[in-house]
Amino acid sequence: MSKQSFELLILGSTAASPSSDRNSSAQLLNIAERYCLIDCGEATQIQLRKFKAKFQAIDHVFISHLHGDHFFGLPGLLSSMHLLGRKQTLYIYGPENLKKMMDLLFEVSETQLNYSIQWVFTNAKGKNLLFEDEKIEVYSFPLKHRIQCTGFLFKEKNLPRKIDKFLMEKHKLSQADINLLKNGEDVMNADGLFIKNAEVTLDPPKARTYAYCSDTIFDLNVVDYIKNADVLYHESTFLNDMHERATKTFHSTAQQAATIAKAAEVNHLILGHFSARYRKIEEFLSEAKTIFEACELATDGKKIKI
Ligand SMILES: [Zn+2]
Repeated sequence: MSKQSFELLILGSTAASPSSDRNSSAQLLNIAERYCLIDCGEATQIQLRKFKAKFQAIDHVFISHLHGDHFFGLPGLLSSMHLLGRKQTLYIYGPENLKKMMDLLFEVSETQLNYSIQWVFTNAKGKNLLFEDEKIEVYSFPLKHRIQCTGFLFKEKNLPRKIDKFLMEKHKLSQADINLLKNGEDVMNADGLFIKNAEVTLDPPKARTYAYCSDTIFDLNVVDYIKNADVLYHESTFLNDMHERATKTFHSTAQQAATIAKAAEVNHLILGHFSARYRKIEEFLSEAKTIFEACELATDGKKIKI
């Protein structure tokens, strides 16, 4: 069984104002062919075009918090989806005030969308299940920022066990037996033969997780929510030389992001949300690697397999 798709596209990697080569925060995650947009900084729709992403395939939009560099692209994106004839419902997950803002915007511009929006409000209390279907689960968890802010955890569901086709025929297993075996149970076949699960099945590929830590002060409380993630994105707005400014503005440094990755025992770390004051972002990588080796920098257009 080949693994199902689980891939991240970085659409924006800078903090605050966009520059000519780095747009503000946005990522597109394809998890089991569910397209999730994570944050939506200004001009995210242009980035989607530029990197040839499936624009109308996006059914879920997750907004971490209401600082402009994380959602100013949303009105334009929603309008374009309307103009391009979208019909299917769009699910938006974010703070309640986001809906208020969008409602006012549509009211004053007398806009009536062709499609409906299903809102799911986030809150900063603990871990919350936002979305679930037969293949994936998405949770929010609290981050510590100047305003309400949540991270997001995207999880594959456990895949069924793989059954050896040759043994399946040899033991004359019925569909009901197969269903039980896929769930890890033992069965008795039509001949009354007891078949242990381990004799005829193989482990499925491991279910993978992606954790997104948007704007946050260095906070070890987050470790519990993102423990053992396959890939962690963690903001690193500053280098350690500006750790006081990081604390004051409720942001993190590259060293702090790496410390979180190490404590959470994740496999891989992506750094992003770099302050425009730094011209050479390579320094973020070298600073983080002194603490956590398996890391890379988010750059616009980069694709990362989970
Ligand atoms: Zn912010």
